[in-house]
Amino acid sequence: MYRTHKNGELRIEHVGQEVTLCGWVQTIRDKGFMIWIDLRDRYGITQLMFNQDVSSSELMEAAKSVGREFVVKATGKVIERSSKTDKIPTGDIEVEVTSFEILNASITPPFTIEDESDGGDELRLKYRYLDIRRTPVREKLIFRSKLALETRKYLIGDDFVEVETPFLIKSTPEGARDFVVPSRMNPGQFYALPQSPQTFKQILMVAGMDKYFQIVKCFRDEDLRADRQPEFTQIDCEMAFVTQDDILNTFEGLTKHLFKTTLDVDLGDFPRMNYDEAMSRYGSDKPDTRFGMEFVELTDIAKGKGFPVFDAAEIVVGICAEGQAESYSNKDIKKLTEWMQRPQIGAKGMINVKVNADGTFKSSVDKFFDADALKTWAEKFDAKPGDLLLIMAGETDKTRKQLNELRLEMGNRMELRDPMNFKPLWVLDFPLLEWDEDSNRFHAMHHPFTSPKKADVERMLNGDHETMKALRADAYDLVINGVEIGGGSIRIHDRALQARNFKLLGFTDEEAEDQFGFLMGAFEYGAPPHGGIAFGFDRLCSVMNGVTSIRDFIAFPKNNQGRDTMIDAPSLIHDEQYDELFLKSTAEVAAE
Ligand code: ASP
Repeated sequence: MYRTHKNGELRIEHVGQEVTLCGWVQTIRDKGFMIWIDLRDRYGITQLMFNQDVSSSELMEAAKSVGREFVVKATGKVIERSSKTDKIPTGDIEVEVTSFEILNASITPPFTIEDESDGGDELRLKYRYLDIRRTPVREKLIFRSKLALETRKYLIGDDFVEVETPFLIKSTPEGARDFVVPSRMNPGQFYALPQSPQTFKQILMVAGMDKYFQIVKCFRDEDLRADRQPEFTQIDCEMAFVTQDDILNTFEGLTKHLFKTTLDVDLGDFPRMNYDEAMSRYGSDKPDTRFGMEFVELTDIAKGKGFPVFDAAEIVVGICAEGQAESYSNKDIKKLTEWMQRPQIGAKGMINVKVNADGTFKSSVDKFFDADALKTWAEKFDAKPGDLLLIMAGETDKTRKQLNELRLEMGNRMELRDPMNFKPLWVLDFPLLEWDEDSNRFHAMHHPFTSPKKADVERMLNGDHETMKALRADAYDLVINGVEIGGGSIRIHDRALQARNFKLLGFTDEEAEDQFGFLMGAFEYGAPPHGGIAFGFDRLCSVMNGVTSIRDFIAFPKNNQGRDTMIDAPSLIHDEQYDELFLKSTAEVAAE
């Protein structure tokens, strides 16, 4: 037998028992006549003790011979510790070792396997098996497993069926590039890895599955960021005979269940806000509602007063940073303005008004606006003495986006964004189509299968170009703390409307038929009204743990270059594989 107990298990009531433990050597303290070893496994740490008075010299020698990360097996008696610690749950006891076996040696690990590791990100990824031995990483993977279990419990309890859909499919345009896989049996042809199971889950509704879900890998060949991975996991769902409300209620219920069962957090009912309102109040379709500092528009009262920047602007809009007037010197404001002018944000400038403690004002536009004018501004903001108003002007969409960045930055500086204070929000009624000036065509804001709102169907079928820009979709996102957790929509289930949408998106009839004939064909065999949603599972894990990176919730993530440095992928393939797959080798291409 390898072990009688795990390393997180022994307590004072075990004193006197003989136990056998296995694990990795975390630390060794050698005092000559006494040696202590902290033994670690997934469950915790137990202190082993070797005492010259009790143990044979062979045993002492064996204990002395081990190094960090050796795998050992130890048998001995549980005794009460003389110096107890409450830092670990086993801190009241230690095991006085009577038999000791080295199961495997270890070379010195490249970083310390402790909560605060000295290893950088790249090193940790290369030696991920050592990284996962660290408590914070291991705990995140255990959390993920629990979250998946609770997701399954909840959805299966609500009559959902988990159905697996294929990984080798045909390209579906969902906004990102596909990863493709050459088909050996079909020379010159390629599969694509799914960006999501979108069309399959819709077809499962036509097939009468009624309620589908899947915790599923999706693949998108996009440029990487901290919260993105080329392969990631979704909680993917679809339901038939449902309205938007049915879907929101189901997934609000799921989200509440997940927070309650894994974090013991009660989320109240989720507020709902439509897209237009989110854009005008926060300048973002994923507003962080942990704090106020909402946008206040001054366009009416600030334009036409001779200040050229305002007069030329489509919108004048600002935020009120409570109590910040005194904290911001002219130099600080200048720095903040420069921060806003970085290419990532691209603001031209920023106007500030300080509401002084005595109720007077100091602004960067004193030349154009007198105290009375500034007072009307302050009233609009509901500003109090000591507050700082930060105002921007320009073209509406751009200005709102920039002010959103400023609001979030001020939220950070004012410590209003506690990561463990969870504020969910449904954002509803997204535009159906987005006009892209560069390519001179419409893009689907969500994806091509999203339905317009019922009231907009007629206009979509018969309206002109301008009408299309105003169409609203039955599309929704769940946002928590300013992070998009997931999104979905009610789908088109009518062949003619789907064909119209493809046309608006610039597909010719042939292209639409070639790429999506199977779906439109299925719609002709009695497609029920249906809709669905997908949550980003990795991201949900990270938000629930108050961190921004999704990497630690993925056992073997890719680095920023999309590489798995542990197995060294992607890699070159053998020439024979090129032949087999009807691909040309680098040498052949060079020879051509
Ligand atoms: N397939 C969509 C996505 O991956 C989600 C959905 O519409 O259900 O974003």
